[in-house]
Amino acid sequence: MKVMLATRNNGKIIEMRRLLEPLGLELDNQTDTDIPSPVEDGQTFVENALIKARAVSLASSTPAIADDSGLVVPVLDGRPGIYSSRFAHIDASDAENNSELLTQLANQESRAAYFFCCMVFLRHAQDPTPIIAYGQWWGEILREPQGEGGFGYDPLFYVADESRSAAQLPAQTKNRLSHRGQASQHLIAQLSKSLV
Ligand code: IMP
Repeated sequence: MKVMLATRNNGKIIEMRRLLEPLGLELDNQTDTDIPSPVEDGQTFVENALIKARAVSLASSTPAIADDSGLVVPVLDGRPGIYSSRFAHIDASDAENNSELLTQLANQESRAAYFFCCMVFLRHAQDPTPIIAYGQWWGEILREPQGEGGFGYDPLFYVADESRSAAQLPAQTKNRLSHRGQASQHLIAQLSKSLV
């Protein structure tokens, strides 16, 4: 089955392609098309994931998988949350977002945070029963970036069980532990049943 991956984030494309491999789907990238990304005006990860998948499914006339994900810092009332990719400003780079996070956490005692991922599958744009899966990954925000791998907030996200940042984890390890890894496992389990 041909399915469109509804994202223009290269870091996510690499991870999602590997994670969704067991489904044996023919995954096409939104980046190889001229399908524009919709305005993400939901208030929650699940709303934004559905908005992305629906827009891409409608434009491509194929099923679509989208994820909406981000970093949630409880002591910052959940920020950056759904605004993770545009925390510093609308076109912010990863470095600018990381620096904004360090500034906002400067006088805070708690540095606990979690990555959250909602991954959805839509059979078609009007699908009334989308498949929805979630993943959550707890860590601590470091005082300075560590490591060169991954993307986004990975260099600031310390994974205690591995004694290093997410940017220092081999891709396989990050995929096993991460919010996106967990969400994709749940999505695969549900999708395998519904494809039978
Ligand atoms: P989205 O593309 O609107 O879902 O925005 C996701 C944003 O959340 C990314 O641009 C990153 O800033 C952040 N993010 C999500 N997943 C990860 C991850 O696995 N590592 C680091 N940052 C992430």
